[in-house]
Amino acid sequence: MDVLKIAWLYPDLLELYGDRGNILAFRHRGTELGLDIKVDKFGVGEFFEAKAYDLVFLGGGADQDQSLFYNDLISRKIDFKEAMAAGTVFLLICGGYQLFGEYYLDSNGNKIDGLGIFNFYTIPGEKRSIGYLSIETEIEGQKMVLTGFENHRGQTIGVDTPLGKVLAGSGNMVGGGFEGFIDKHTIGTYLHGPLLARNPELTDLIIGWMCQRKNINADFSLSNSSSLEKEAKKQVLREQGLANYLDLVK
Ligand code: GLN
Repeated sequence: MDVLKIAWLYPDLLELYGDRGNILAFRHRGTELGLDIKVDKFGVGEFFEAKAYDLVFLGGGADQDQSLFYNDLISRKIDFKEAMAAGTVFLLICGGYQLFGEYYLDSNGNKIDGLGIFNFYTIPGEKRSIGYLSIETEIEGQKMVLTGFENHRGQTIGVDTPLGKVLAGSGNMVGGGFEGFIDKHTIGTYLHGPLLARNPELTDLIIGWMCQRKNINADFSLSNSSSLEKEAKKQVLREQGLANYLDLVK
């Protein structure tokens, strides 16, 4: 059985709103595709080499939890850059996403240096962005509508390559119209929910990237037991007055 390896960073500190569901979604879909998804967890002070993994995952976290691993995260900058260059996929949710930018100004006005791998930065908004978030995106020619739940005060500014266009909700910045970040095989997003359980087509796209890296041929036409997830997504779109996007839910 072909093996895909995932490194899950700070699972105890970055676990808001069921972000661990993304790992479950990888495992579930991996089983359907005949792939063995191996997941290793790493906490503060635990060494690993990111380029030995097909995907690195970071979830979201509250400000006080984020402060417990800043120094550890920053020490991994060179390793992460090398891994990105070597084709490792990075999936970063909310708090994890924010810290890959230049800096994060928290709600108390503390300026925390980010990894600075990308040139966006995050400052506190006047109030929190909370609620369902739906976006439209096109990745490698595949048009998708993604839905999820956002809850963040940070407003991310200076994103040159957003993941998508906001259909409903805030995304990177209240009124800015764009959500998340994409650069090659790195995705950052404010979509909790969890993202991949709600958006099975994105799960397949990301597993496809991991397979590419290893030259694994998986048959993605294999039935995907996600009809319930798709119906849940359609319901969110209907509730947000976005029924004209239902056709994009494949
Ligand atoms: N603490 C960050 C913020 O409020 C991230 C929150 C989250 O990960 N949901 O902006």
